Amino acid sequence: MLVTDARVRAAYAEGAGIYRILPAAVAIPESQDDVVTLVRQAAESHVALIPRGAGSGMPGGNVGNGVIVDLSTGFSDLVVDPHSRSARAGASVTWAEVNDAAKPYGLRLPPDPSSGAFATSGGMVATNAAGPRTVRYGSVRTWVEALEVVGADGVLRTVTRGEKAKFDLSAADRKLIASRFPGTRKNSSGYALDRFAQTGDEVDLLVGSEGTLAIVTEVHWRLDSIPPHIAGAALGFADLQTMTEAVLYLVSLKPSALELLDESLLQFVPEAPRVACLLLVEFERETGAAARGVVGDAVRGLKHSVIHVQTAVNRAGLEQLWSVRRLASPALARLPPTQRSLQVIEDGCVPLAALGAYIAGLRAAADRRGIPVAIFGHAGDGHVHVNALPDTTRDGWREAIHGLFDDVTDLLLRLGGVPSGEHGVGRLRAGILERFYGADVMQLFREVKRAYDPLSILNPGVIIPATDWSPVAALKVGAGAAAIPEDIATRLREVERSAAWATPKLELAH
Ligand SMILES: Cc1cc2nc3c(=O)[nH]c(=O)nc-3n(C[C@H](O)[C@H](O)[C@H](O)COP(=O)(O)OP(=O)(O)OC[C@H]3O[C@@H](n4cnc5c(N)ncnc54)[C@H](O)[C@@H]3O)c2cc1C
Repeated sequence: MLVTDARVRAAYAEGAGIYRILPAAVAIPESQDDVVTLVRQAAESHVALIPRGAGSGMPGGNVGNGVIVDLSTGFSDLVVDPHSRSARAGASVTWAEVNDAAKPYGLRLPPDPSSGAFATSGGMVATNAAGPRTVRYGSVRTWVEALEVVGADGVLRTVTRGEKAKFDLSAADRKLIASRFPGTRKNSSGYALDRFAQTGDEVDLLVGSEGTLAIVTEVHWRLDSIPPHIAGAALGFADLQTMTEAVLYLVSLKPSALELLDESLLQFVPEAPRVACLLLVEFERETGAAARGVVGDAVRGLKHSVIHVQTAVNRAGLEQLWSVRRLASPALARLPPTQRSLQVIEDGCVPLAALGAYIAGLRAAADRRGIPVAIFGHAGDGHVHVNALPDTTRDGWREAIHGLFDDVTDLLLRLGGVPSGEHGVGRLRAGILERFYGADVMQLFREVKRAYDPLSILNPGVIIPATDWSPVAALKVGAGAAAIPEDIATRLREVERSAAWATPKLELAH
């Protein structure tokens, strides 16, 4: 189905990030054959295709002025095989659906994006999504066994782990990659050439390629046993340096999650302890004694540095402790309508030892630019989310946001970080990749793109920047926003505020 109705196009003009870009049309394929036909037609007519799942991706990879390919509904098959501990999930199947089906067998898909209720299998693979438990279990890349994809040549194929890619690296390329890829624990910033250089595995190249190399129609997930015992703690600190040292210690104890709430976020939660930053740590173990024991080790090891301690020895207690994290979201959603949460510096990741310096730098840049921020994230991976909260009635807010983007890019470069730990590059970060990797690695990225998509019909402008790249343009906010019907704009805003990304976008148009 190809739709050019103006209201439908408007309903697909926004994703979770900052952009509003009206697509030329929307296609809603219902089978692999539909996708094949669509890609062949696009190749003939040189039309850009923008693959899309729930639209919850932040950096604008899910919007564009070509044809949106909505894969959020037509690919819903899901089969769990407990014997091989695996699941075959159509591109539309969400993380929550995979886990609900796996749970009766004592299995799960360990990386746990907070957006799991709506993030689709296709979208998670395309962004190399991750979550709190990534500190122990890796990002989704680790858990992909095979992918069914339609390439830019319009051919449907299944790529299984161990298969060689359409692209090869020379010895000199490998040396370059080893010298230029940053040493962060997570990275969703461009093609994963570092991993690909180690494995030569096509799956590793396709995961995280953000719809620019192929359209994913099915994912074969590897599943893992749900560990039987869990315990954890909430630990408060008076300053960022002490917190960073605590993170290095806690990571050595192999936590299954180690999350950070900065005071800039805690201020929105009246129930939260008054500390400069709070770490929430979770340990999964095979026995209750082991889980309780490691919490004891954590608290004893940090007794001279914490200013607030609460422990929990079971799942219910831990959920209670972690409720502070969930309470922040509704508080942020209640901000006055003039103060918008904009995702422009929301996904930076730094080497662990630089975590405190990064947060201090973020706070300083936000002060300098006069933009309030709320900072939180995955401390155990050195990975920090930031909601920038400008008052969009203030003169110069747009320039201030652009300035913040530039300042934080410089900061990440100085600290040896990357601009995305899990959300991807999208359109937002495409133009800064070269600063992180250098011109030669960027050239390799272009060669990868050419090998898979010589006509550049798959998500052009994402990862490889458009010639007119501009990060803070085509915004959904402010006077210059593209005109769409008022009722649809209101519904899209409501989807954003309530994170209702599972809503079928066609419904917004009716
Ligand atoms: C409230 C909230 C919380 C979030 N928390 C997390 C989190 O904890 N961890 C995390 O990693 N992310 C998080 N995200 C970001 C987002 O949910 C993830 O990036 C998710 O993986 C995107 O899935 P989606 O189905 O919404 O994809 P979309 O947003 O529709 O697309 C994202 C990218 O994937 C490509 N794509 C989508 N489907 C396909 C396909 N079938 N084939 C090829 N390419 C495709 C698109 O072209 C685009 O580049 C959060 C977002 C929100 C709004």
